[in-house]
Amino acid sequence: MNKKSDKINGTSMLKGIIGNLNRKTVLLSALAVVALTGIIVVGYVLSYMISYTYGDVAIDLNEYQANQSQTSIIYAYDENNQIFELQRLHGDQNRIYVSLDEIPDHLQHAFIAIEDARFPKHKGVDWIRFVAVFVKDKLSTGGSSITQQLVKNITGDREPNFVRKFHEICNALNLEKNFDKDEILEAYLNTLYLGSGCYGVKTACEKYFGKDVSEINIAEAACIASITKAPYTYNPLVNPEKNRDRQVNDCLDAMLDEGYISKAEYEQAVAYKMVFTNSPEYVADNKTEDKKEENVKNEVWSYYVDYVVDKLIDEFMTEYDMSERQATQKIYYGGLKIYAALDVEAQKVVDNVYYNRKTFPNESGKDVQSQSAMTIMDYSGRIIALSGGAGEKTRNRGLNRAVDSPRQPGSSVKPISTYAPAIEEKLVTWSTLIQDKAFAFNGELWPKNYTGDKGTGAYVTVQNALARSLNTVPARIVNYNLGLKKSFNYLSNKFNISTAMEKYDAAPAPLATGSMRYGITTLEMAAAYAAFGNGGKYYEPYCYYKVTNSDGSTVYFDNATITGKQIISEDTADIMCELLQSVTTDSVGTGRSYKISGFQTMAKTGTTSDDYDRWFVGGTPYYVAAVWYGYDLNKTVSNVSGNPSGKLFKKVLDEVHKGLPEKEFPKSNIVSEKKYCLKTGLLASETCYSTGMGWYSLKNLPQTCTSCKGAPPATTPSGDNQDDESFFGGLEYIGDQIINGLN
Ligand SMILES: [Zn+2]
Repeated sequence: MNKKSDKINGTSMLKGIIGNLNRKTVLLSALAVVALTGIIVVGYVLSYMISYTYGDVAIDLNEYQANQSQTSIIYAYDENNQIFELQRLHGDQNRIYVSLDEIPDHLQHAFIAIEDARFPKHKGVDWIRFVAVFVKDKLSTGGSSITQQLVKNITGDREPNFVRKFHEICNALNLEKNFDKDEILEAYLNTLYLGSGCYGVKTACEKYFGKDVSEINIAEAACIASITKAPYTYNPLVNPEKNRDRQVNDCLDAMLDEGYISKAEYEQAVAYKMVFTNSPEYVADNKTEDKKEENVKNEVWSYYVDYVVDKLIDEFMTEYDMSERQATQKIYYGGLKIYAALDVEAQKVVDNVYYNRKTFPNESGKDVQSQSAMTIMDYSGRIIALSGGAGEKTRNRGLNRAVDSPRQPGSSVKPISTYAPAIEEKLVTWSTLIQDKAFAFNGELWPKNYTGDKGTGAYVTVQNALARSLNTVPARIVNYNLGLKKSFNYLSNKFNISTAMEKYDAAPAPLATGSMRYGITTLEMAAAYAAFGNGGKYYEPYCYYKVTNSDGSTVYFDNATITGKQIISEDTADIMCELLQSVTTDSVGTGRSYKISGFQTMAKTGTTSDDYDRWFVGGTPYYVAAVWYGYDLNKTVSNVSGNPSGKLFKKVLDEVHKGLPEKEFPKSNIVSEKKYCLKTGLLASETCYSTGMGWYSLKNLPQTCTSCKGAPPATTPSGDNQDDESFFGGLEYIGDQIINGLN
């Protein structure tokens, strides 16, 4: 038994000894392993850190600055030709890059003092502060140097863990090896989030004080620097007291301690009465700032800005082979500088009339409101102003009727499909006589005139037919003389109506009376008519002068060198300009109520069947404009006296022309005003007793009348529309080629 128990005891004793030995050994071994591992890890970490620090550039600030998400800005020119910000394009990030020399020293110092006092001395990490905070708070964000914060802002990596912290340190050390303190500070001040959607000090200064960053004082600088710690909590618009506490007790104190400001400056800053953009005392200090603030707040843009954005998306897609998404990103966040071509004052007039629906007919009792669109251009392609709809504008980049909604043009198409082409082709002159009479077409008599009749049968001059907007005369010209192919070619290729479809529109009705398949936009209509006021040139319409990147080093688009293309000869353009002026000056002209006060006004009206669309296209020596009026879904325009588009044209352009110096349409020396015979349409002789005045190309003068024998007109016709058909019976002097074809 004993032996057995001894044996047992001995065994357990041995086991105990071995156990103890083992435990010690294991412990020691473990410690050794841990120590060794520690040394290896620390060594590895240090060597990694060193090689990383001295290795290649990990974060390239230059590249970052070039690529980072930046607010694009649309600039415009005011009435004194001074440039100002019209609109900032931004979504969730409002950011504008500003160089360090534009940032006042005291603002730089405010951030250094409160965020990283040893920034000028350390090499990326303030180890003393870092370790102190680390021991106390482990992974708190406190203790990060400005360089580390910059790394965080750029990488967007904020996850609180050791690996990330380690990488942040490596990146910070690497940054300091490759960039100097100024570059780092500049990048930091441009990337940090300062609340209320502001990234960087420039937008923050504007947001909180309505001031440019260069204008802010010490107290304001301390206020801005105090936001960083917690951008919502210390947002001065939201929590002014909390911001105030940190501004004075943390920031200004630190600035004083660090010797950045004197005691006197400190006291002055503490005593300074803070005025924020939401304070009752706040007054925007100048007009430009006022406009800027107004536009930052005003998130619904004008139709013009809509068009600039849409047009640019198109252009980036076409010219730079971008997807729609890429192009859109580029425009909103690419830090672009877009120099818009609008005339700000003219756009204001347009907006005022359209948004308030002033001058619009009273539509009470109707369940749908009428709509309208308008485009105003100069004679070299510049879009001056536009409106894509009537009534309050509630969203951006919605339906912009001025550029997106082609509508049937009615008679307003005639000058570009019929009259100008026929004059250019030397088929008619001002006074060529053509019969006002419908003809057999597709088994019926066609067309009807606007007044509902099928023509009186009288021979009328081209001028008279145009002024009265007869349909019979252009229908005859297109059908019998010009031909569909030529007519369509002018409309589509020369006057650049992109919505003209050969398949549907190369036919008499679309070409002569404007019943096109898709119609024409006011933009393309204005651009086409511009050729009548500039000697026959077509200019591609543009809405911006230039588009560059944020520092102007890359120019994406430049319209400064835009040139016109001669689409009709100068003499044709000048004659058309005079013919169209007669629409507002002739006693029978359909546009006589809408002449612009004090200025020559060329014009053409247009009405489509069932009165769905009402057009007015017109121009003065300064501007050309196209106006459409109707309903989005076809509906008869009724209860409207006169031409509502003509009223809008006059309302807007009278205002736009106020104060403009006298000016006349240009005129070439190859046209001349001459007396013509109302009886024959030829140049008048001494013996012609019924005459009018018209404009002719010296290259295409009619013959002189030899028919009139000077008979005293006891009953002189008062207008050529009263011409008596019987007078022509069998006579051969009436521009043979025309009349033979037309009869
Ligand atoms: Zn005569």
